[in-house]
Amino acid sequence: MNTKNIMASLQAKYPGENEYLQAVQEVLESIEEVYNQHPEFERAKIVERMVEPDRIFTFRVTWVDDRGEVQTNTGYRVQFNSAIGPYKGGLRFHRAVTPSMLKFLGFEQTFKNALTTLPMGGAKGGSDFDPKGKTDEEIMRFCQAFMWELWQCIGPDQDIPAGDVGVGGREIGYLYGMYKKLARQYNTGVLTGKGATWGGSILRPEATGFGALYFTQNLLHHAGKDIKGCKVAVSGFGNVAWGACIKALELGAKVVAISGPDGVCEIPDGITQEMIDYMLVMRASNRDRVEDMATRFPGKALFTPGKKAWSVKCDIALPCAFQNELAEADAKELKANGCWCCCEVSNMGCQPAAIHFFQHNGILFAPGKAVNAGGVATSGLEMTQNAEHISWSGAEVDEKLHFIMKSIHEQCVKFGTQPDGTVDYVKGANIAGFMKVAQAMLEQGTL
Ligand code: GLU
Repeated sequence: MNTKNIMASLQAKYPGENEYLQAVQEVLESIEEVYNQHPEFERAKIVERMVEPDRIFTFRVTWVDDRGEVQTNTGYRVQFNSAIGPYKGGLRFHRAVTPSMLKFLGFEQTFKNALTTLPMGGAKGGSDFDPKGKTDEEIMRFCQAFMWELWQCIGPDQDIPAGDVGVGGREIGYLYGMYKKLARQYNTGVLTGKGATWGGSILRPEATGFGALYFTQNLLHHAGKDIKGCKVAVSGFGNVAWGACIKALELGAKVVAISGPDGVCEIPDGITQEMIDYMLVMRASNRDRVEDMATRFPGKALFTPGKKAWSVKCDIALPCAFQNELAEADAKELKANGCWCCCEVSNMGCQPAAIHFFQHNGILFAPGKAVNAGGVATSGLEMTQNAEHISWSGAEVDEKLHFIMKSIHEQCVKFGTQPDGTVDYVKGANIAGFMKVAQAMLEQGTL
């Protein structure tokens, strides 16, 4: 394989699709050496096939806002790869959504899902709809209009969407309601992240954050360290950050910062359960402002506008917000502030130069596709419960999530251990995911 040539042809074919090209480049760099030891992959042109989505659906979504004005957005579903199972991955509603963003997310999802040990292919979808400032009624009308187009592309054995940025339990509810009406199918397994009384798995809302902390525990244990007493800086205040804060607190760590697009809230005494509960209120308000935490808890949460979570002194950084949110300058600031570990929870949350800095300055680093895989893994567990028409207890789901995160960590160690004994988690995760998908593609013939 010649990474340079493949990248050059993708760049020429998809100019400006920067997130997608960045995600592909990272994976190809990591797998090149292993790939070249497998001439059968080269003969079957596995990489050339794997970097292209199987198909992309694009559709217009028209809805009416509260003032009675007609609004139009664009919706997408990228079905990336089905080598190891039906298409699986979330829906993102955010003003910046583009085909490039969803292609990068679908590509990442393919490898992430392969790491979970469960049979799920990779997909992603969403819309450039901006939930900020929208009322509950507007969100419902948008979700219904979106599903009006999406329903024909999905199915419990075909493609199973879930939530992502801007899509949580409320949106999944509206989407599922409309799906039933249009498809006259009552199989709850068509979407995951549902409410607990109508097919949702216990712990699915917490799972991405919980899984990230379990992975972090495994990584620290492997490095001979303990999370107890560590200061943790978290970016974002959405569903993922919320789950991460709950588990960090439970494991005896101190969350000293959360952030938003408007700035950072420093919490010198550590986040409390009451503050964590308030994160849910902040999200439901659709205001997208972390300053609200400081207003609600004066003197305890200290807001600084325009600053990131990485400006706060910490041991462990957990990016939980958006792709490319952590730049090289932030990585340097973290190091200067005493940080020695960064577990990326958001998808591709760290820019390549930041990862390079971490890896060359003795800072433990693990990539999103390994760290945040507990979310989609618990979606896989939700699908199993739906297929069996049962629901497991929280303890049962949690035990399985523990096992999956431990197994993902082991795969990273197996494929990422370097001659000096340290683990390159980026390499480990990419190679482990790639080998599984590549082998399945090979066995299923030229398609
Ligand atoms: N959006 C989540 C992710 O990035 C979850 C996807 C799912 O549960 O299908 O993995």
